[in-house]
Amino acid sequence: MVKRKGFANFIGVLAVLLILSGAAGAIWQVKLRTAQLAEQEKEPGVESSAYTLAKGDYSNLTYDNIHVDRPVYDRYTLKQRLEKGLPTMLPALPHYTAEKVAYLTFDDGPDDVNTPAVLDVLKAKGVHATFYVLGCMVEKNPAVLKRIFAEGHAIGNHSYDHDYDILYKDKDSFVAEMEQTDDIIMQTIGVRPFIIRAPGGTVGMFAADYYEKLNLLGYVEHDWNILTEDATAKKPSAEQQICYIDRRAAGHHKDNMALILMHCNGGKEETVRALPGIIDNLRAKGYRFGVVTPITPQPW
Ligand SMILES: [Zn+2]
Repeated sequence: MVKRKGFANFIGVLAVLLILSGAAGAIWQVKLRTAQLAEQEKEPGVESSAYTLAKGDYSNLTYDNIHVDRPVYDRYTLKQRLEKGLPTMLPALPHYTAEKVAYLTFDDGPDDVNTPAVLDVLKAKGVHATFYVLGCMVEKNPAVLKRIFAEGHAIGNHSYDHDYDILYKDKDSFVAEMEQTDDIIMQTIGVRPFIIRAPGGTVGMFAADYYEKLNLLGYVEHDWNILTEDATAKKPSAEQQICYIDRRAAGHHKDNMALILMHCNGGKEETVRALPGIIDNLRAKGYRFGVVTPITPQPW
């Protein structure tokens, strides 16, 4: 009787040991597999709910994954994509036309006075906007670019220093300057924009071959369809700027969108002063606010 009980205990312990070792083996297998997957999927860049970060193969760049008020960035520079044999041309995406959207865009920054002042207004109004920055300005004011990024606005590439002679010499010269600025942006915030704006706009600046080249490289250019004229010789007051936008946004716009050009560099104090009124009037007209992404329609 005692012997039999001892034998039963022995079998019981053996069974437990077998189960435990089996479980440990299974856990080890799962851990190994997770590590292997992580190794495979390890790509540079910090994921965030504040923006869509493109995967190397662009598999997450779908219409459903791009939101009207969330920026889209790349984790690789063009050079890195080419070196790794990753695609550069973006997947074909439909444009967002479902709602009336106002896209506030600010060119030629970041400076250290008016750009922070614009950011203060946007924060107070709970609005996200798009900043097309110059590489030379980012070099001077990296902390302001970091703030733009951290506060959820979209960042676009507006060339290194706005020099038309270099930019519009030929398409390769244009792209070289875009890449130079991409590198500066990447070094500052760890990601790179897809969206760009040609200094002065594309009309009369781009030769036909620019469009094809930019498309192949995944750059998405947007001009504008409404402007405050804050960079013209007229130097309109804040009141005039509010009036321009109010009148121009009232009419019908293609694809339900108002893509508004403003500036946030030195000398644009009237733009800063106009901004609260511009935002209030657009809201009153039923616009929501969005940031420029690859699904933003073209303004014309
Ligand atoms: Zn500009």
